[in-house]
Amino acid sequence: MKFATKTIHAGVQPDPLTGAVMTPIYQTSTYAQESPGKHKGYEYARTQNPTRSVLESNLAALENGQFGFTFASGLAATDAIIKLLKAGDEVICGNDLYGGTYRIFRQVFARFNIKSHFVSMEDPQNITNFINENTRMIWIETPTNPLMNIADIEAITKIGKAHKLMTVVDNTFATPYLQNPLDLGASIVVHSVTKYLGGHSDVIMGAVITNDEKIAENIGFLQNSCGAVPSPNDAFLVLRGIKTLHLRMKAHSENARAVAEFLHEHPKVGKVYYPGFPSHTGHEIAKKQMRDFGGMLSFTLVDDDLQKSIQLMEKLQLFTLAESLGGVESLCGHPASMTHAAIPKAEREKNGLKDSLIRLSIGIEDKEDLIADLERVLEEI
Ligand SMILES: *Cc1c(COP(=O)(O)O)cnc(C)c1O
Repeated sequence: MKFATKTIHAGVQPDPLTGAVMTPIYQTSTYAQESPGKHKGYEYARTQNPTRSVLESNLAALENGQFGFTFASGLAATDAIIKLLKAGDEVICGNDLYGGTYRIFRQVFARFNIKSHFVSMEDPQNITNFINENTRMIWIETPTNPLMNIADIEAITKIGKAHKLMTVVDNTFATPYLQNPLDLGASIVVHSVTKYLGGHSDVIMGAVITNDEKIAENIGFLQNSCGAVPSPNDAFLVLRGIKTLHLRMKAHSENARAVAEFLHEHPKVGKVYYPGFPSHTGHEIAKKQMRDFGGMLSFTLVDDDLQKSIQLMEKLQLFTLAESLGGVESLCGHPASMTHAAIPKAEREKNGLKDSLIRLSIGIEDKEDLIADLERVLEEI
């Protein structure tokens, strides 16, 4: 099956009981047993839920994986992956990660003696320098949040394999429509389903997908043992959202390209962070591993004035000032005080994240309207 067909059909069958074409929401916590231990494969809804199972099969198929697991949030999925490790183990992470991923490594798992190193992954050799006998995992996010840096997934998974490390790719920004990390050698793909997969800013959810039987067994064990599972209602909403993933991603990518080009030409705009520009340092790698460049971009103003950046975000009308990304509506955000506030200022600046940086999640409205909104506000500030 090709991608668009999978979004609609993979794992989805008419309900065997009634013929309902859409997967029913099995809103139940438990299942009747005929005799102790004799049941239809469902015992208790933390462990299995049919609505959730359909979504998990669908997500696995989209990422070209055999095993899919969903969680109550992207961070709950991240939490389960880190729990594959034990005290004393070390992880090498990209230095421009989602702020919550940084926080869970540094403020939660550090307490359990899991050590994390944060390095720039634009040059994969930086990773090699940190590998020692305790290293177990490499954690990649590409494109990165919010600086839109690109890491070469294939080159990094090769390093991982050579040292018998698990390689995890957070594929939230790209989605399986644009990028398939498992095909490039990654051991695990993690998603904040909250973003593009859900796609309508109405659900919090996460997912883990893998082709490795042993990893799948462990993640399934952790999903049930720790219990951060999503509700059947949310599974239904995400199944519905995914049916248009390919259409939405095409529109997000097209609009983002137009907005990036507009900002790039504007005299009041400083730097535009968008991997679709040939001048972007990761452009060639992005072209190699992605089908298009996605719906996210960031930019600064030419004078790097924080007050003007704030004014701009307040005055925009079609871009709602809010955390999150990946919904049909456009959003703007201020990473330094919002999504990335958990990272200390000195650490942020070392990695090139300026306080004046504005992040845009480009929605699927008419691009002319989005550009007009930005043009008006840039005029006013
Ligand atoms: C939002 C996000 C997460 C965390 O997901 P939640 O669903 O908010 O828990 C992880 N990684 C990336 C890249 C994100 O954007």
